[in-house]
Amino acid sequence: MSKKKHYDIVILGVGPAGLQAAIHATRKKTSVLLLGRLNKSSLYKAHIENYCCIEGVKTGKELLEAGLKQATSFGAKHIEEDVIRTEKHNKKFLVETESHIEIECYSIIMATGISRKGLGLDREKEFVGRGVSYCVDCDANFYKDKVVAVVGDGSAAASGALTLSKLAKHVTLISKELDISAGLKEDLAAAQVEVLEGRKVKELIGDNELKAIKLDNDQKIDLDGLFIEKGAKGTMELAAFLGVTLDPEHFTYIITNKNQETNVEGIYACGDVCGPPFQMAKAVGEGCIAGMNAASYVNHLKRKSKEG
Ligand SMILES: Cc1cc2nc3c(=O)[nH]c(=O)nc-3n(C[C@H](O)[C@H](O)[C@H](O)COP(=O)(O)OP(=O)(O)OC[C@H]3O[C@@H](n4cnc5c(N)ncnc54)[C@H](O)[C@@H]3O)c2cc1C
Repeated sequence: MSKKKHYDIVILGVGPAGLQAAIHATRKKTSVLLLGRLNKSSLYKAHIENYCCIEGVKTGKELLEAGLKQATSFGAKHIEEDVIRTEKHNKKFLVETESHIEIECYSIIMATGISRKGLGLDREKEFVGRGVSYCVDCDANFYKDKVVAVVGDGSAAASGALTLSKLAKHVTLISKELDISAGLKEDLAAAQVEVLEGRKVKELIGDNELKAIKLDNDQKIDLDGLFIEKGAKGTMELAAFLGVTLDPEHFTYIITNKNQETNVEGIYACGDVCGPPFQMAKAVGEGCIAGMNAASYVNHLKRKSKEG
């Protein structure tokens, strides 16, 4: 028996970008399938306090669950599976999931986020949101008057350390091979950021929360937070296979115009996969635009094929 399904729009990703795209696309009377896992969204383990109109701190998990409920209440379907193949066939696309369900659609919205580069240490995942963070812009406020360290070699790590130096009691920048401008080095010195060069973190220590780290020279540093700022890497293979243009410098983000259209007709992208800033508000805004425009595109295509 064929497992092939048909939807107007398939959305890859159930983070805030994909969910908002689904909400707007379904309200324009298109059939929408969401693919992906809530617990793989960057938001899942986050605590949000900088999203407009939401007072206090909300967990990412509760926001995502509410978003999925909202999208499905408007008619979107959800299959909790990753996409492993995408193909273009004339004006249609074919999407295949990990259990080999095949879906034909008129439009694809890529909302797959980014996978952040970690340190690959034991217990690193366990401490995410409990002392380990991959986003200074997101979490710096939680570390007012605390002791923190930043790990990384580039300008992202150095500017993260500078941001934290305005809030935290003490900031250490730990780098294997620091590769930043002389100006940034001067800024770090002026901000009294302690720089440990030629060092790697080898162990994370704590019970429920991170309490200390051990370096490769066995130096132990007591701290409240460790920020890993090693840049971001996107999962670009599916997009590249469809002929979607990626950023020419690093091939880590999808290029779109202001309508969230990619260079391939019928394919839209939104959220972290389109590049920084990596923030829920941006993901939701872009998701809204992508969802509305994909739905208009599909409705126009269907009207034309009825006329012809
Ligand atoms: C620890 C932490 C704290 C944060 N704090 C804040 C904050 O305070 N404020 C703020 O605004 N932002 C914060 N962020 C950033 C915010 O979470 C992201 O900007 C936002 O989640 C991006 O949304 P997105 O939908 O683009 O991607 P994501 O939320 O990352 O969702 C990506 C989705 O794509 C799916 N996917 C990936 N590959 C495939 C595939 N092959 N097939 C199908 N699905 C796929 C995943 O399963 C997931 O559902 C934080 C992030 C982290 C990690």
